[in-house]
Amino acid sequence: MAENQLGGQQVLVLPEGAQRLLGRDAQVTNIRVGIAVANAVKTTLGPKGMDKMLVSDLGDIVITNDGATILDEMNVEHPVAKIMVDIAKTQDKEVGDGTTSVVIMAGELLKGAGDLLEQGIHPTTIIRGYKMAAQEAGEILEKSSQTVKIDDDKTLHKIAMVSLGSKNVGGEDTKSMIADLVIRAVKQVMDKDASGKIVIDHDFIKVEKKAGGSVNDTQFINGVLVDKEIAHSGMPKSAANAKIALLDVALEIEKTETDARIEITSPEQMQAFLQQEDRILKDMVEKIKKSGATVIVTQKGIDDMAQHYLAKNGIIAIRRVKKSDMEKLARATGAKIITSLDDLNTKDLGFAGLVEERKISGEQMVFVEKCRDPKSVTIFGRGGTQQVVDELDRSITDVIGAVSSAVETGRFVVGGGSIEIELSAGLKSYASNVGGREQLAIQKFADALEAIPKTLAESAGMDPIDTLVQLRSKHKTKEGASYGVDIIKNTVGDMNKQGVYEPMKVKLQAISSASEAAEIILRIDDMISSRGKRGGGGGMPGGMPGGEME
Ligand code: ADP
Ligand code: MG
Repeated sequence: MAENQLGGQQVLVLPEGAQRLLGRDAQVTNIRVGIAVANAVKTTLGPKGMDKMLVSDLGDIVITNDGATILDEMNVEHPVAKIMVDIAKTQDKEVGDGTTSVVIMAGELLKGAGDLLEQGIHPTTIIRGYKMAAQEAGEILEKSSQTVKIDDDKTLHKIAMVSLGSKNVGGEDTKSMIADLVIRAVKQVMDKDASGKIVIDHDFIKVEKKAGGSVNDTQFINGVLVDKEIAHSGMPKSAANAKIALLDVALEIEKTETDARIEITSPEQMQAFLQQEDRILKDMVEKIKKSGATVIVTQKGIDDMAQHYLAKNGIIAIRRVKKSDMEKLARATGAKIITSLDDLNTKDLGFAGLVEERKISGEQMVFVEKCRDPKSVTIFGRGGTQQVVDELDRSITDVIGAVSSAVETGRFVVGGGSIEIELSAGLKSYASNVGGREQLAIQKFADALEAIPKTLAESAGMDPIDTLVQLRSKHKTKEGASYGVDIIKNTVGDMNKQGVYEPMKVKLQAISSASEAAEIILRIDDMISSRGKRGGGGGMPGGMPGGEME
């Protein structure tokens, strides 16, 4: 590879000390950075992958296997590294799983591009070839996929177990229990849009966590767990068949914004003033009582006096609840969020079979549960230490992503590297039909896909080259199409028989994001540091736009 130098140009227009990398130098450097980022997460891939421990300057420790989290915590500076981190984040956001795979793929695509650049192939030819390959791979993927129906719990369970496979959150039984909880949650919040398409909004599966107990204590809550305590000690600690009012109203006397002062000249006046305040608060509580509410939840504050009156009336109140939790409560209980007490009506109240404050590891939390067909639910993760519950949280989020991707598109593929070999083989024959110089890029794309089974084999302690050779030959036969890396027996095996299933959507997203990232990085042929203008934004132009760079 060429030396990473400035190429000796005299660049007079740039301020003193500014860095500039041009043409090949820029590309070579960027490719190296991309590969380095991919290498950083590579060893975590698959059930036999390792965990990473990340330690911050302040000594905070994160132990994880999650690609997106590792990259996020790595605190990278180089803009190309940031692009790599971004694709993991996009993958996380769009499908919730497959973050390590997408970064490995992107790194391999860059490596392939590096080889081609060295052979004198122009970047635009490589980009064109990669685009064609991604398109074709998507089509082969669809053809190789199988159907999963919403009521097919057995298949959904397998998909969930594969997603959990690489996570260090307990044994098979524990994972199976988590898989069941997630499937239940996904089905509960599932909706259909106007065209009848299944949509799952991940925001309405709340993953709450609290260190303490064990992972096996993780539970499904048919409603919302609110990390708050009941406002006043005189209020009941629980209410069965609760009628819930959701308020975006402060139960307080409005303080005037200006410096207006109230002139009080006599004790009688003082008395009258206090009485008036008291009456306003009492009125508020009266309105709540009249609506029939037995529980109120507000985003705002509640005056001590109002709390006292609510307690006297046996009404439970929770205050200063996050807006996002209010929305979840609305979907779970069927309540409407009210912005003025005058509008509070019995029909705006929601329902929960039980609202109860419980002490969890020394802290009070309010369970709003046993809701009727709630469109928002909670998975409450427990575990011995903060690190355990944090990783459990990330794992649950991955599984939610995997199960809902499978349910939304209704398609899954066989994993364990088998689908990647299938795609790779398909692309190789496609390449020879395409011809031209693009075929070289398509071949590199095919090679890049093989990095997934290769890495799985490596982390299982198998010989990666032998494994690839065996898999390629298996996939030449029809029966061999679902062969992948058997990480238990350390050999190649039928992944279909083992039920190593993954959502098609996760693979589709990984392929398109990885190739897009490689394309963006390859298009850059001029890197100029712009520290002066942007003011301390790092040595190189910060945040390359994700779109056209030509
Ligand atoms: P990602 O962040 O990309 O999801 P993971 O660490 O979750 O990374 O690893 C996913 C890879 O591991 C996929 O290619 C998947 O097919 C593979 N995998 C998961 N479970 C198994 C298994 N039991 N046998 C073989 N491969 C598996
Ligand atoms: Mg995964």
